[in-house]
Amino acid sequence: MFPFVVVFIGPPGVGKGTQAAILSEDYVIPKFATGDLLRESLRNKTPLGLEAKKYMDSGQLVPDQLVLDLIKDRIVGLPKETGFILDGFPRTISQAIALDDILKGLCHTVNLAVEFKMDEEARILRLTGRRLCPQCQKTYHIVFAPPKTDLLCDVCAISLIQRTDDNEDVIRQRSAVYWEATNPLLGYYRNNHVLKTVDASSSIDSVLLQIKNIFASLK
Ligand code: AMP
Repeated sequence: MFPFVVVFIGPPGVGKGTQAAILSEDYVIPKFATGDLLRESLRNKTPLGLEAKKYMDSGQLVPDQLVLDLIKDRIVGLPKETGFILDGFPRTISQAIALDDILKGLCHTVNLAVEFKMDEEARILRLTGRRLCPQCQKTYHIVFAPPKTDLLCDVCAISLIQRTDDNEDVIRQRSAVYWEATNPLLGYYRNNHVLKTVDASSSIDSVLLQIKNIFASLK
């Protein structure tokens, strides 16, 4: 049983999504990534997805209310004893305050905020080489984690694509937005005594171990 609410914070390309996916399986808890939820809304051509597209394509934050509606839908209704991981949410202090409000109503609180730390140029290299399967959303890297057959998904055997916001200009814009709007969240969670930091530049297994050690220390 893992009853804790965990938020992952870090600039684009630090591997939050990769870790959230593994941990979600290992601890049998849900994970919610607002970026994934927004892209899903866009694929389904919902009004919310279509509205969010212009912000996402230019590397800007989607307005709070759109993201809050998406995340609230997922959290409310979960059994009270079920913990979960939030990846890419909250991204601003106002989202963190709104999250606290939602959780309060559910008798939950943020138990842990994990900061993923990594050098900027290494992050850009990771993101520009990232590819994903348009069907199952599995992610690859053209150098570090290539598919078995040339640019085809190992599972679905269809051509991999690049996220429209994974080009260098938009990546730099997303990073700038992170430093301006999201980085201040670290102070917020430090003040709440729930902030821990991991070195995200090491291997997937090493980062995973760091996070699992932190999870093990939660009470
Ligand atoms: P990500 O998949 O986390 O890199 O997010 C991709 C894009 O979705 C971001 O650049 C934003 O445009 C949007 N997005 C994701 N999460 C949020 C959030 N919590 N608040 C505002 N915009 C978000």
